[in-house]
Amino acid sequence: MKKTVQIPKEIFETCPGCNKILLKKELFENNKICPKCGYIFRLTAWERIELLVDKNSFKELYRNYTSKNILGFPEYDAKLKESKEKSKLNEACVCGICTIDNIKTILVVLDFNFLGGSMGSVVGEKVTLCFEKATKLKVPIVIVSASGGARMQEGIMSLMQMAKTSAACAKFKKTGLPYISILTDPTTGGVTASFAMLGDIIIAETKALIGFAGPRVIEQTIKQKLPEGFQSAEFLLEHGFVDMVVERKDMKRILGLVLHHCLRNRNFL
Ligand SMILES: [Zn+2]
Repeated sequence: MKKTVQIPKEIFETCPGCNKILLKKELFENNKICPKCGYIFRLTAWERIELLVDKNSFKELYRNYTSKNILGFPEYDAKLKESKEKSKLNEACVCGICTIDNIKTILVVLDFNFLGGSMGSVVGEKVTLCFEKATKLKVPIVIVSASGGARMQEGIMSLMQMAKTSAACAKFKKTGLPYISILTDPTTGGVTASFAMLGDIIIAETKALIGFAGPRVIEQTIKQKLPEGFQSAEFLLEHGFVDMVVERKDMKRILGLVLHHCLRNRNFL
């Protein structure tokens, strides 16, 4: 009889890029990038926070905000419950105050594991509160996006968040303080169409998918074939939509440099 070997999930992970079995410890030491083929695994909000902030400096804000099924959308309650259990988060974004390269900063990180990082009323509210908090404390804000866009279960309440977060962003910009937007895989839909593209500096992570609508919808609308890789971070850099494409291992260092540069340039330092 053939013996099957059970691979414990806590220790190993299979790479979707090369199908090789990786030691989780090694994968994490390499910032969740496959050491064999370079496949970039998505980060959870907390992994991203750990990657970016000065050690032990992060203090979470608005943690208990949680969504309600305001429209009575079928199965939304069950989906929320499942997402909470799976992601161990209350909502699709984690925000807080921290220091990055010794600069006090408000940080918002979206998590794709929670209903595709979609922007419902609570995500919109938390982003808005963070812009207001940064204004009040006179500190910069960094938002790391990973989102499928609007939250369809909240209908127009979700769409309204685009206008609300954009207005909060515009108000914050009057202070002259920097807003740095980091686009990670994937940043699409209503998040791209609002605060994610409004950063003073827009940084994209290597190979991230960034767009508004999916390629099939665009092809059907404009009735044209789309160029190869047209929604990749690199393509967007070439066409002037983002300011820089940064590898994950360099993200913290570059973010620190950008923050220092912006603050010095605008006479805050
Ligand atoms: Zn691989």
